[in-house]
Amino acid sequence: MATTVTDNLNHVRSTLLPGVQLVAVSKYHPVSQIAEAYAAGQRRFGESHEQELRLKHTELPDDIEWHFIGHLQTNKVKLIVPYISMIETVDSLRLLNEIERQAARVDRTIKVLLELHLAQEETKYGLTPDDCRALLANGEWRQMEHVKICGLMMMASNVDDNEQIEREFQQASDFFDEVKRDFFAHDDYFCERSWGMSADYPLAMRHGSTLVRVGTAIFGER
Ligand SMILES: *Cc1c(COP(=O)(O)O)cnc(C)c1O
Repeated sequence: MATTVTDNLNHVRSTLLPGVQLVAVSKYHPVSQIAEAYAAGQRRFGESHEQELRLKHTELPDDIEWHFIGHLQTNKVKLIVPYISMIETVDSLRLLNEIERQAARVDRTIKVLLELHLAQEETKYGLTPDDCRALLANGEWRQMEHVKICGLMMMASNVDDNEQIEREFQQASDFFDEVKRDFFAHDDYFCERSWGMSADYPLAMRHGSTLVRVGTAIFGER
């Protein structure tokens, strides 16, 4: 029996632990499928390519909260800043500075996450824990009035070994606690832990995830 986007979405929702929010990752899927999820009440969607996101954003309702989850080039920041809700993939001070500059121009404050690199793959983007500590210790971000660092994002290694995946999620969770204590102890907004995708979000939720980014389990294969 064929399942619909609505069925899949309702299934995924039924598996979320309390306090966990869903980012429906709609990259490469057509506007019609996003509209179906929207009709079923979903408002938070994730995309990873600026141009694709721009086209979808113009065609879909304004109350969608778009999360940018791909690698973001600094020259694309100004294109998404007027409407993006959260940029989950900040991996350099240079990018953070550019978001601040462009957000100031349009008088918005953009929520961002720092992308943490723990996975074994060389190809994944992101900050190592040391890069992340250095970026925060530098303190420049404290002067930025148009970006709000709301937490961390990470992707576990793409492996079959669940123990390794869980170790990485736990490492991310422990690192979140460290950063929270050292830099954001009095900032309630620093609370987001974005980990877990279709294949591993049940594991991620056991290790403190507050945002899961689920594509395939809702929209099917890309
Ligand atoms: C594509 C993507 C996802 C969703 O992956 P699925 O396996 O389809 O759930 C989540 N996070 C990021 C960063 C992605 O690029």
